[in-house]
Amino acid sequence: MPVISTLKSRQILDSRGTPTVEVDCLLDDGSFGRAAVPSGASTGSHEALELRDGDKKKYMGKSVLTAVRNVNDTLFKKVKGMSVSDHRTLDQALIDADGTENKSALGANAILAVSMAVCRARAVSEKQPLWKSLADQFEVKLGKDVKLPVPLMNVLNGGAHADSGLSFQEFMIVPVDFPSFADALRAGAEVFYALKDMLKKFQYVIAVGDEGGFAPHVADADHAFSILTKAIETAGYAGRVKLAIDCAASEFYKNGTYTADGKTFISAKLADYYGHLSEKYPIVSIEDSHSEDDWDGFVLMQKTMGKTTQLVGDDLFVTNTERIKKGIEKKAANAVLIKLNQIGTVSETVDAIQMAQKNGWNSIASHRSGETEDTFIAHLAVGLQTGQIKTGSLSRTDRICKYNELLRVEEELGKKAVFQSPF
Ligand code: PGA
Ligand code: ZN
Repeated sequence: MPVISTLKSRQILDSRGTPTVEVDCLLDDGSFGRAAVPSGASTGSHEALELRDGDKKKYMGKSVLTAVRNVNDTLFKKVKGMSVSDHRTLDQALIDADGTENKSALGANAILAVSMAVCRARAVSEKQPLWKSLADQFEVKLGKDVKLPVPLMNVLNGGAHADSGLSFQEFMIVPVDFPSFADALRAGAEVFYALKDMLKKFQYVIAVGDEGGFAPHVADADHAFSILTKAIETAGYAGRVKLAIDCAASEFYKNGTYTADGKTFISAKLADYYGHLSEKYPIVSIEDSHSEDDWDGFVLMQKTMGKTTQLVGDDLFVTNTERIKKGIEKKAANAVLIKLNQIGTVSETVDAIQMAQKNGWNSIASHRSGETEDTFIAHLAVGLQTGQIKTGSLSRTDRICKYNELLRVEEELGKKAVFQSPF
């Protein structure tokens, strides 16, 4: 197996024009891998640390030149000459070089960019697609069928991602009844066009939010769902395209109460509100229904809705196996959102997915609201067989590039590709 001969990091910009870290990795057999890390807006407080320079004169304090230097100096020294045969050993070396619980010494953005770039270089060296290399590396047993993920497509943006006034952050469409990923993607795109026409007709703005979804000033969640339901019908997909939300409730939680859609709720009443919405609309998945430390709220949700609805923890679990383990013990959800940069290495991300899978929970590979052209999560979703991916709307290349990569993977798999909805 080849060894790492060069790491070269640079500062690039993400989809919001904010600096982020990119790393090039060169192996001694000439194989080359490049990766860039994403960045969140509604970040959970338990996430690994994203290191920013804080120099107000540059990019309003958001440059990442220290993280870049940490890759080029400390991390490169640590892994130079290391074999890429065992990714867990490599990631452990990166974790040890940092030495803190939340990667605050060197920055999770620095560490993750290296971890991902090495995966890409190894795949090139193996002459394998990245998804297959990840599956081999992390001992995923692929049968004769390989699952393509069901996309959760965020077509109406609210919360911290847009100024639509919607309290819930993401209103998603979920194509569930289609023979292939390509067909599901087409259905999503056609609903997106129908939605655009409908918004235009009712004289809403059709500008898009951070994840490429529309951001109209509609009244509340009920109104948003009714518009989406009509768009699905108009596109001819009633019953075949369902709905999902990411409430990102930490963002509208303060001093023990939630303020959403012009009303104030205590934790249990907020659960009732979701219950009512779910009776009225075909909602298959609810993410971060409650604030990141409101475990009781999540437990109540799981008790009342867990049998019929996918209940996802994002800020709640932050892709961290300690928090997921607590969630499993408490029965606080039945699915985990998976974001590489919440935890900061590929191996730890895989641990989170595999813990969910071993316990019969669903997992969803996810982008961040600040993204790049990197398509790593498309490969993660296939290689680790997560079954679902959340990567934004049907516009903007930072979102679409992940869907396009999945089209290529599906094409390459041919008859081995299967598309099966868990809903
Ligand atoms: P973020 O949002 O990337 O801004 O954190 C995505 C999400 O909450 O799922
Ligand atoms: Zn979320």
